[in-house]
Amino acid sequence: MEHYSEQMELLIAELSKLPGIGSKSAQRLAFHLISQPKEDVERLAGTMVSARENIRYCRQCCSLTDRELCGVCSDPARDQKTIMVVETTRDMIAYEKTGKYKGVYHVLHGAISPMLGIGPDDIRLKELIERLKGDVNEVIIATNSTLEGETTAMYISKLIKPAGIKVTRIASGVPVGGDLEYTDEVTLLRALEGRVDM
Ligand code: ZN
Repeated sequence: MEHYSEQMELLIAELSKLPGIGSKSAQRLAFHLISQPKEDVERLAGTMVSARENIRYCRQCCSLTDRELCGVCSDPARDQKTIMVVETTRDMIAYEKTGKYKGVYHVLHGAISPMLGIGPDDIRLKELIERLKGDVNEVIIATNSTLEGETTAMYISKLIKPAGIKVTRIASGVPVGGDLEYTDEVTLLRALEGRVDM
């Protein structure tokens, strides 16, 4: 492998820490960056720092937002008594894109995985349980149909059913092992409409 200057090596090393960026891609990105006008690179770096500083978890649903309460939670038109539980903010956005769901969300930021050592305390479950002390009609569990997603759905269902809250699971129109994020809107809506009691 060729040896670059110290600065270039440093840049390549930092870029290759990003997910999905191998050393080849990191080199390509590094060369691209240093060939760009200084202002463009400053704007990119500034945007990254500012996003990191200002984006936080919504006080209510734990989605990523730059406000105290996210756009969905603060919308008076949304049904606050119906909570859809998803694994990631990206899943939430996938459902938002359908424009048909009128309830609110709860973002777990992961799923229970005994194999990876991820337990209930490692995802945002406590926050969900806290929310359920309020007035809630239905919890729709929309975790992925992976082993982890199903394990999480079962766990949540067992946890909240004794409280007398209706718990439903989205239909398995979503392909097994498929991430919600990549599922098209029609399939998402069909899965939501065909949800079943747990
Ligand atoms: Zn929110």
